[in-house]
Order: sequence, then C-alpha cells, then structure tokens
Amino acid sequence: MTSDYILALDQGTTSSRAILFDGSGHPAGVAQKEFKQIYPRPGWVEHDPEEIWSSQLNAAHEVLRQAAVGAHQIRAIGITNQRETTVIWDRSTGRPIYNAIVWQCRRTAEECDRLRAAGLAPVVQASTGLVIDAYFSGTKVKWLLDNVPGARDLAREGKLAFGTVDSWLIWNLTGGQKHVTDYSNASRTMLFNIGTGEWDDQLLGALDVPRNLLPEVAPSSAVIGETASALFGRAIPIAGIAGDQQAALFGQACTGSGMSKNTYGTGCFMLLNTGSDRVNSRSNLLTTIAWKLGDEPLQYALEGSVFIAGAAIQWLRDGLKIIASAGETQAMAESVSDNGGVYFVPAFVGLGAPYWDQYARGTIIGLTRGSGREHIARAALESIAYQTYDVLTAMGDDSGIQLSELRVDGGAANNDFLMQFQANVLGIPVVRPANTETTSAGAAFLAGLAVGFWPNAAELGALWKREKTFEPKMSKSERESLIEGWRRAVERSRSWVIAQ
Ligand code: ADP
Repeated sequence: MTSDYILALDQGTTSSRAILFDGSGHPAGVAQKEFKQIYPRPGWVEHDPEEIWSSQLNAAHEVLRQAAVGAHQIRAIGITNQRETTVIWDRSTGRPIYNAIVWQCRRTAEECDRLRAAGLAPVVQASTGLVIDAYFSGTKVKWLLDNVPGARDLAREGKLAFGTVDSWLIWNLTGGQKHVTDYSNASRTMLFNIGTGEWDDQLLGALDVPRNLLPEVAPSSAVIGETASALFGRAIPIAGIAGDQQAALFGQACTGSGMSKNTYGTGCFMLLNTGSDRVNSRSNLLTTIAWKLGDEPLQYALEGSVFIAGAAIQWLRDGLKIIASAGETQAMAESVSDNGGVYFVPAFVGLGAPYWDQYARGTIIGLTRGSGREHIARAALESIAYQTYDVLTAMGDDSGIQLSELRVDGGAANNDFLMQFQANVLGIPVVRPANTETTSAGAAFLAGLAVGFWPNAAELGALWKREKTFEPKMSKSERESLIEGWRRAVERSRSWVIAQ
C-alpha cells in the first residue's frame, strides 16, 4: 500500500468538507467549514459563492495539515456537491454577478407555473427526465439574467459563465482555465437532454438562456484539468465529479443495474441504478444521469425522495417535545410489542411520490386510551419505512427491477429498530456499510478510478464493507396487514387543506 491519497471535496448545503481517502477506501482525515445561509425573503435561499469557494479551499488545506499529508501525496481530487444550486460569474474577473441561488429556493415557482401552463411538462420530462420545479437550475439561470442589471447584455456578448457548484469550484481550482461540469450535475439543470447527452436547444429557447453561458460537459470519472499550482504548491489532477446523491450511490458501490441506496436524513433520497437503460417514470419519479465513467456509456438512475423522514423525529423532539434526542426513539419503539394500531403520516408539507398531494397534511391516527408516547415514537419511525416502501414500490413498478437488497446511509440509518422494520416491510435485506461517508467516498472513487489509484469498479466493490445486515423477519400476512393500515392512514391525511 502506498502512502498516497485521494482528496474528496464535498461541497454541501450547509458546510464544505474535505476528506482524505487511502488506498483501502478508508477516510484518513476530515475537515469541515460551515458557511452562511442567506434568506433575503421568505422562501428564498442564497449562498455567497466566494464563501463557498473559500470554505472549500480552507477545508482542503486544513485536512492536509491535520493529517500531515503533502500535496505530492494527493493523486487526484474528486468533487461532489449540493446539486442544482446556480452560480453565474464574469469570465474576465471571475467574480459572481449575484449570490448563488440555492436548490431549496422557491423564487422561481411562478416561472415554473408559466412553463407548465405553456404545456412544457411533457417536453421537460422527455428531454431531461425531470418534472418542472423551481429546484432545478434552469429557471434560476433565467431569473439571474432577467433580474441582475446588465446581465442579459453581458451574457449575449459571451462574457458570463453559468455553473452548478461543481463548475464554480473547478473554475476556481483551475485558476479560471476550465468551465466544466459532469453529466450527473448537468442532468439536474432542466436544460440538458439526458438521452442525447447534450444541452437542449428547445429548453434553452423556452428559458431564454444563451448557449455560450453553459459549461462543457465532461465524464464523471476522467482527468478534466489540474489545480493551479499556487493553491497547493503543486498541480493536482481533478478527476472525479458527481452531484451528491449520485456520488452516494457510487460510494455505496451500487455500480450495477438493479442496485439501490437510500439516505435517511431530514428527508430520504433513494436512487436505483438502472444501468444504461433510461427508465421513464409513470409515478413522477425523476430519471437522472447517475454518472459517466470515461468513454463508457451514460448510466442512469431513478430517483425518489421523501420530504419528511428524520424531520418527523426532529418534530417529536422540538415540536411535540416527547423525546430529548433522536437516538432515544430506538429504545422507545422496542419497548412496545407493536404499534398498538397507531399510524403517523408526517405529511407536514404534503406528500411526494407516488401520491403527489400538496394538500395532504400530517396525521396521527388509531389512538386509543392505551396509546403512549412509545407508540407515537414507534409510529414516527415506522412512517419513514413505509414512505420508503412506497417509493421503492413505485420504482419497481416503473423499472420492472426487483431489488435484492437496499444499502442505507444518513443519520437515521443508525437506528437499528428502523432498519430492522425497514427490512421487514420491504421483505429484502437492508445493509448498512462500515463507512457511512458514502457521498465523499463516491467522489473519491470516481477520481481514483480515473487516475488508476483503483484499477476498476469491481475493485471498488471489494472496498465497500458491510457493517450490519438486517434480514427481514416478518410474516407476509403481518407485513401486508401493516401496509394496509398505512394505506388507510395515508388516505385519511389526503386532500386535507382546502385549495384556495
Ligand atoms: P441531513 O444531512 O439531512 O441534515 P443527517 O444525515 O445528518 O441529515 O441525519 C439527521 C436526521 O436524522 C435528523 O432529522 C434526525 O432527526 C435523524 N436522526 C439522527 N439520528 C437518529 C436516530 N438514531 N434515530 C432516528 N432518527 C435519527
């Protein structure tokens, strides 16, 4: 084993992290820098792009210092990033023309209504695999060009550059030499045809985005440039790029068709690798590019999210105040033999796939005099598993793929009760890896593959180690009866808010 490393840069929504990975795929050092969240108005979210860059660079310097690793020991850099967040900068000065508009920002919701009214939803789905939504970069680019004084003229003259956060970091890492993104990030812009692998002229026209603003699209695993030597004292190849969820799929070594991971955080993010088949969803799941390795064909994934997962546990703690810490819910849930007939549908912000009901609201149902806080805590954990079941069922229906196991990560994946119940409800094993730094591992793996640090994807599969497997232990009849209870509870939560 050499003493060389891959440096992963994990530029997230609330912090910039830098993680060193050794040849056995272990994280050998981590540094993290938080940065400011900017909320100029209700529903608007921005970041300062200069702070994204400086926090990321500082994290990289810090992890090298802490681990006493020199730049000469870094074989390559891999980048993973908060997806969809949009930056436009001036090509000559390198200065952003405005703050970064963050994926969560709802400022372009009305523009999205306009696009839907113009009949563009089928066009967007056919080309980009997405549903029209303010999350994606396209309408954010249009907003910047329409609202920053002088931006349209500068754009027309070819003086501006648009990028998602990966592009912005690479521009800065290469001293302005490279204006590049990768296929996984491009597929989240709502401007990119995921079938042809090219920017979509019809959508660029509909959103009035000039082509000269756009980055070159590069493979997710390939040497795309080098860092300016002043930054680390030596030029380091930049060899891996992927959006955070795709990177986590790769970091979970879900490199073959039919493999799936679920991240249990505030919400859940589930991705199913469908290989070189682009599966179009009938359930309004997203179809996205998973990655492109060098010259190999594009690989696709189906993506579904659950809005409220760990956030339901946060609500028990901070809203209802029946627990002091999230971890307590495991013992509470295990202290009762079953849910006591109690179901909790945490539709705090409506329901996503496969229901898509923005008027649904949260409900706790089935309460009796015998119901205690343990039952409510248990019902909250169970709701995370049922929602995951709903999305995975929709993915199975759309793709015809039957999963053989589910790989898990994220904060709430540490809850053994939840993971066992998840296995029971799905009827397949749920597998938690030893290394839960899956997002940054994915970026490192993509970069390491490109420079021969690891020889091939099969080798990466061997680096991935399971910590614990939860085997399903519930009878079919019990499972079906619980799922039936969940379905009836969901029905009660639906169409609750009366549309104005
Ligand atoms: P994010 O990246 O979305 O902030 P994390 O992966 O850090 O999320 O996970 C945090 C979420 O997981 C919180 O919503 C928290 O309530 C939940 N959580 C953390 N630990 C546990 C646990 N042991 N049991 C249940 N939920 C948990």
